[in-house]
Amino acid sequence: MHKKLGELKVLVVEDSRVTLKVLCNYLGHMGITPLTAELGQTALEIYRRERPDIILLDAQLPDIDGFGIAKEIRGLEQKKDWTAIIFLTSMSEDADLARGIEVGGDDYLMKPISEVVLKAKVAAMRRLVEMQRSLVAVTHQLNVANKELQRLSTTDGLTGLSNRRMYDELSIREWRRCERAKKPLSLVMVDVDNFKLYNDHYGHQAGDECLKVVAALMKRAAPRPSDLVARYGGEEFVFVLGETDVDGAKWVANLMRQRIADLNMPHAVSPLQRVTVSCGVASVLPGENLSLEVLMQSADHALYQAKMSGRDRVESGEYGAVNSTVNS
Ligand code: GH3
Ligand code: MG
Ligand code: MG
Ligand code: MG
Repeated sequence: MHKKLGELKVLVVEDSRVTLKVLCNYLGHMGITPLTAELGQTALEIYRRERPDIILLDAQLPDIDGFGIAKEIRGLEQKKDWTAIIFLTSMSEDADLARGIEVGGDDYLMKPISEVVLKAKVAAMRRLVEMQRSLVAVTHQLNVANKELQRLSTTDGLTGLSNRRMYDELSIREWRRCERAKKPLSLVMVDVDNFKLYNDHYGHQAGDECLKVVAALMKRAAPRPSDLVARYGGEEFVFVLGETDVDGAKWVANLMRQRIADLNMPHAVSPLQRVTVSCGVASVLPGENLSLEVLMQSADHALYQAKMSGRDRVESGEYGAVNSTVNS
C-alpha cells in the first residue's frame, strides 16, 4: 500500500529528554506528530514495525550509536521503502560528519537544533521521499505492464495455449533437461481432421470456436508442470512431454484424442461425422548426435501415417524414421 503523498512518518531518536521535547515541539509546528525512541534498540524495533519516511537520529546514544543504527537500517530496507536519515550531532569534527554520510546518512543537523534549519531540511527530505514514492509507483506499473507483455508474447491469442515462440524456447530447454537427467523426451504432433471442410461448412468463426474447445481438452490431458502444450500453427498442436517414454506419450495422446471424439462435436462433412484429431508420437533419449529437429520430423511422419490410415488415431514412429515414405 502506498502512503498518501504529504502524509509523512517521522521517527526521532534522541536520548536527551530536553532535546527530544524541543524537536517534537518544532515538528508539531509543521503538523507532524513524530514517533520517538530514546534507545538505539527501540529505534530499530520501531523502524521494523513502522518503516518511517524520515529518521532524525542522534549520533550518540547509550546503547548502539547512531552510525550503527544507520548501517543496520540500510541493511534492512528494500528499494520500495527508502528512509531519509538525518543525523543529530554536536560533534563538529568533519570526519564524524563524513562518517555519518558514509554509513548511510543523508544529511545532518548541528545541536543546538535551529527550528528554521530543521524545517528546511525536513522539507527537502519530504521532496525526496515523495519522488521516491512516485518512482516506486511507476516501477510497479512498469512491472505489471512488462508481465502482461511477456504473457502476450508467449501465449496464443485464440486458444490461450503457449505459442510457437514459447514452444521453440521451451522444447529445446526440455531436451537439454532430459539429456542431463538421462530420461526420454516425447513429442506428440496433433492435427484436427478435415478442418478445411469444417471451416467451409460451418464458417471460420465456428472453426475458431472449435479450436478453442479442442485446445482446452489438450491442455487438460497434459497437466504436469513440465508438460508443454503449444499451438504450433493453424490447426496443428504439439505436446512436449519430458521424462516420458513412447508408451506414456501414446497414452496421453490417446486419452486426449478419445476425449475430443467423445465430445461428439458435429462435423457433417467429415467422413467421421464429428470433430476428431490425429496424432503422431515420437520419443528419444536425448544425446549427442541426436536432435530435436529429427524428433519433430519423426513425430510429423507418424502423424502423416495416422492421417493415411484413417484419421482419429494415434501412430508412433521410431526416431529418425523420416525419409522412408517421403512424398508417398
Ligand atoms: P487433414 O485431416 O488432412 O488435416 O485435413 P485438413 O482439412 O484439416 O487440413 P488442411 O491443412 O488442408 O486444412 C487446415 C485448415 O485449417 C485450413 C485453414 O483454413 C484452417 N485453419 C488454420 N488455422 C485456423 C484458425 O485459426 N481458425 C480457423 N477457423 N481455421 C483455421
Ligand atoms: Mg545522545
Ligand atoms: Mg494441418
Ligand atoms: Mg488438419
